[in-house]
Amino acid sequence: MEAEVRPLPKVEYMAPSSLKEAFHLLKEYQNKARLLAGGTDLIPKMKKRAIAAEMIIDLNRIPGLTGIEIRGDRLHIRGLTRLAEIKESPLVKEKAPALAQAIGLMASPPIRNRATIVGNLCTASPAADTAPPLLVLDALVKMESIRGERIVPLSEFFLGPEKTVKRPDEILTEVIIPVQEGNSAFMKLGRRKAFTLAVVSAAAFVRTRKGKFEEVRVALGAVAPIPMRGRKVEEALKGSEVNEQKIVQAAERVREEVKPITDVRASAEYRKDMSYVLTRRILEQVGGRG
Ligand SMILES: Cc1cc2nc3c(=O)[nH]c(=O)nc-3n(C[C@H](O)[C@H](O)[C@H](O)COP(=O)(O)OP(=O)(O)OC[C@H]3O[C@@H](n4cnc5c(N)ncnc54)[C@H](O)[C@@H]3O)c2cc1C
Repeated sequence: MEAEVRPLPKVEYMAPSSLKEAFHLLKEYQNKARLLAGGTDLIPKMKKRAIAAEMIIDLNRIPGLTGIEIRGDRLHIRGLTRLAEIKESPLVKEKAPALAQAIGLMASPPIRNRATIVGNLCTASPAADTAPPLLVLDALVKMESIRGERIVPLSEFFLGPEKTVKRPDEILTEVIIPVQEGNSAFMKLGRRKAFTLAVVSAAAFVRTRKGKFEEVRVALGAVAPIPMRGRKVEEALKGSEVNEQKIVQAAERVREEVKPITDVRASAEYRKDMSYVLTRRILEQVGGRG
């Protein structure tokens, strides 16, 4: 049953004008503070009393936290860049098409105008739509704190629902995507075509050479406690010929890897079946173009 939505509880609010100021506030308030990026997840959860905070630290007045650029062989998406801007970015469409596609299937235009990529990752929802494309693109996340910065592969970021390796004093400031030869795509099955959370989502990155799969990465959402890579599918395909039979055989392996639950959106059995269907379809889609 949905929790009752009430007005926002009384809470302190600060909008620091530098990262340094934000780090000091985090140090002072520790677990009592919550960072605010777009607020599309945080504010509804606070109204439902699913998240409690004494202090909201709004990151939106800190300069330098938005923008998309190529530096060397990496695409850098700064943390507070809105999903709408990422979806429309020619750089993202060209270098990370699976991410642009995933954002196109998220929420609604007004929410995408506010919501950010780091907010989506920090919810650590198994159904967070930017996670599967970023996993197959081998993305990294940059976290900064008063102690310095560290860069962690996204594959090591999620620990469980609403749990990540991010420490309470850290702020996610950037998503970094290595630019690679190959093609990527994303698919989402929901209970309707738009404005819905995923029942199952899948992303794939594929590079083919001389009719063979040279590189294959598959990731799924909403079918395990964290967004996950389909490693057995990948192993089954790497080096093999690009043909439908191989794809069907490899996609079957995903059933051994997913650990879906039954919830209001779908049963575990349905999710397992659909994991296979989406894995097969996404590989058929990118396999011919990699
Ligand atoms: C109607 C509706 C539809 C939605 N549809 C979808 C959907 O289809 N797919 C989907 O994946 N999600 C969906 N969402 C969830 C949400 O919109 C997204 O997860 C969004 O990307 C969150 O980003 P935000 O910037 O608004 O995050 P916020 O709400 O600002 O923050 C989310 C969490 O991240 C933390 N945080 C924010 N910024 C940082 C930072 N820089 N460093 C560390 N922690 C930080 C916050 O403290 C909070 O815990 C939907 C939400 C609504 C209300």
